[in-house]
Amino acid sequence: MTISHNSAVFFHYTLTDKDGNVLDKSPEGQPLGYLHGHGNIIPGLEKQMLGKSVGEQFKAVIEPADAYGEYQQAAVQAVPREHFQGVDNIEVGMQFQTQMGEQVGLVTVTAVADDNITVDANHPLAGKQLIFDVEIADIREATKEEIDHGHIHGEGGAHH
Ligand code: ZN
Repeated sequence: MTISHNSAVFFHYTLTDKDGNVLDKSPEGQPLGYLHGHGNIIPGLEKQMLGKSVGEQFKAVIEPADAYGEYQQAAVQAVPREHFQGVDNIEVGMQFQTQMGEQVGLVTVTAVADDNITVDANHPLAGKQLIFDVEIADIREATKEEIDHGHIHGEGGAHH
């Protein structure tokens, strides 16, 4: 069986940047599961999974446009410190949830001054070329319910 639309796919991966730094990795013995063709994983990786079979190993090099997008300078903003009431020690690297209408986002503090806090709403991996070392662990047909939901259930998937 090879990966096609509506396959439930389980794979091991190691994600590195172009300098070889490991950014993420599936835990030992716990492959990541996703439903193929539903945008569960980044588009560039999903594209390269098509047609692969169990046991196959490959390297996928994915440009930012097919991963977490280009880095947007406009997403970096200085916010008056008084907007952070109730937070005592604001430090570079802290992350805060934001809400604009229905959109829930995550911003990372990149600079701290007396009056202003600079926050960056880019995804931490925006603008980065991503290199995935992938090994396909398992492939099965998705259930009708999984296809309706657009994600897989059970081990490696959603529990509900
Ligand atoms: Zn579901």
